[in-house]
Amino acid sequence: MSPRRIAVVGASAAGLAAAEALRRFGWTGTLTLVGDEPHPPYDRPPLSKQLLQGAWQPDKLHLRAAEQLDALGLDLRLGTRATGLDTATRTLTLDGGERLACDGVIVATGVAARTLPAAAGLDGVHTLRTLDDALALKERLSGTGHRLVVVGNGVLGCEAAAVARELGHEVTLVGREALPMARTVGTEIGELLAAEHRERGVQLRTAAVDGFEADGDGPARHVSAVRLADGTRLPADTVLVAIGSEPAVGWLHGDPALDTTDGLRCDAYCAAAPGVYAAGDVARWQHPVHGRHLRVEHRMNATEQGMAAARNLLAELEETLPGDEALAPAAGRERRPFTPVPYFWSDQYGLKLQAYGVLSGADRSETTVLDPDARKAVALYGSDGQATGVLAIGVPPRQVRGLRALIATPVPWEEAREGLHNARA
Ligand SMILES: Cc1cc2nc3c(=O)[nH]c(=O)nc-3n(C[C@H](O)[C@H](O)[C@H](O)COP(=O)(O)OP(=O)(O)OC[C@H]3O[C@@H](n4cnc5c(N)ncnc54)[C@H](O)[C@@H]3O)c2cc1C
Repeated sequence: MSPRRIAVVGASAAGLAAAEALRRFGWTGTLTLVGDEPHPPYDRPPLSKQLLQGAWQPDKLHLRAAEQLDALGLDLRLGTRATGLDTATRTLTLDGGERLACDGVIVATGVAARTLPAAAGLDGVHTLRTLDDALALKERLSGTGHRLVVVGNGVLGCEAAAVARELGHEVTLVGREALPMARTVGTEIGELLAAEHRERGVQLRTAAVDGFEADGDGPARHVSAVRLADGTRLPADTVLVAIGSEPAVGWLHGDPALDTTDGLRCDAYCAAAPGVYAAGDVARWQHPVHGRHLRVEHRMNATEQGMAAARNLLAELEETLPGDEALAPAAGRERRPFTPVPYFWSDQYGLKLQAYGVLSGADRSETTVLDPDARKAVALYGSDGQATGVLAIGVPPRQVRGLRALIATPVPWEEAREGLHNARA
């Protein structure tokens, strides 16, 4: 009989949290962690902040020290891509052709940066998702006085624009949204952000990008301008394309049992198929409290969902492998629905945005600007008469944590408004 094995695919925040939880909750069998990047697990949020700024070196991004990884006793496959999963037999295929028979699989492959087809083969055009991407952009922005055009005014584009401006570059932030991050945070918070970026000297443009202009030929073609749909030409020597991401599910397309529309669809327990669970940016699971499928691209969710998927997988295996020596007895290993209160933050200049709950898909929002000059505000978001999310900008983290309770479960809009008012009083 082949040894008992659980494979975790994706060696980043969610995959690492899952691997650690599998050991903590009693898995003593083989634990394979597969990651297509060559680096040991590292943290992504600092890529667009401290790393790009030059405040941190790459080794500060490691999520665990080498000894901590060793202590997990992993069958660690870095620089290795999973190319297929047969859920009926729980067989994982790796890019070298190796096939791994597994008792359980956790999919934690995250998302990949979207790009523009016109950027292919053009030097000076970057995306920002991986450590290698961030190092390449940082290198590109060494020295001062670059002309950077950031395409995409969502959270990533805004953060990178802020850092590049602080580094002394000429920055233009172009997006389809009329205001920075407006699709996520709404108009009023978008206006505060726009004011901050403008005051810092970032040029803001609302436009679709039509293409690029380049100098040189062949592999030496270097971007020289970004062309907008209205015919405007923005001179640039560096471009960051920050237009969102695609769930990394291409490798799962061969299995008809899996629904890979906008991530890997899971039930409330993060299960996509028997013995197959998902966690982190790639997982689209049924949130029991919000009553709909959510896919959350936030750092804290990756850790929490990795742990939840691990616990639920082991609880399922306990039923199929009773008394097996690969699964040490443990208390409290029952399957539980995953019901987090999503949390995200963003840092731009000295400003911190923090949000709890669900902001996307809101049909109403209400913003109270506490101090327009300090860009200090709180906002409530909701749909169908219920408040589902709350955001604070420029408010100390300690105070913001108190707002979490307001929307931990959707509450009637007026009740949440009152709670917010009292919290501010
Ligand atoms: C620049 C940047 C800044 C961010 N800032 C914030 C922030 O301020 N606040 C916040 O809440 N969140 C932030 N995030 C989001 C946060 O980093 C993600 O939510 C988190 O990294 C998700 O972790 P994950 O493990 O699910 O996925 P990922 O971190 O994407 O990891 C998935 C891993 O799987 C690998 N992989 C993919 N396909 C395969 C395959 N077939 N085989 C093997 N390996 C594969 C990928 O290469 C990757 O290493 C930021 C993200 C970025 C990129």
